[in-house]
Amino acid sequence: MSALSPPQLKQLTKKLNEEYQALLREVREELENSGNQHRIDLLNQEPGDSGDESLANALADFNLSILDRHIDAMRDIEAALQRIKNGEYGVCIDCGEDVAFPRLMAYPTAKRCIVCQEQREKQYAQEGHPKM
Ligand SMILES: [Zn+2]
Repeated sequence: MSALSPPQLKQLTKKLNEEYQALLREVREELENSGNQHRIDLLNQEPGDSGDESLANALADFNLSILDRHIDAMRDIEAALQRIKNGEYGVCIDCGEDVAFPRLMAYPTAKRCIVCQEQREKQYAQEGHPKM
């Protein structure tokens, strides 16, 4: 269980939802530009409307490479919201320590504390593809 207070969690949940909606808007615009009207219908539902099914996964089925970046980000947010639901949010998945609130405000989808993240980035940098 994380050390986040309920108001902090609420703030982070709001932030995640806002980022998710912003991504959805961009995805919708790109689908509109590409003329996929029947696919846009899928986006007119709110997250969670389709039960437990992930909207990001549904979008991935379209196989539009232009959406890949958005879909990854949406998956991250969906996973973060799921962790909030399960009471696992804000705990580093590597070392089990609390992830600091300011770090979560900067990166609400962060799964690692700053120490583990830096270690990981060093590893990735060596492999030549740094990732958040
Ligand atoms: Zn850690």
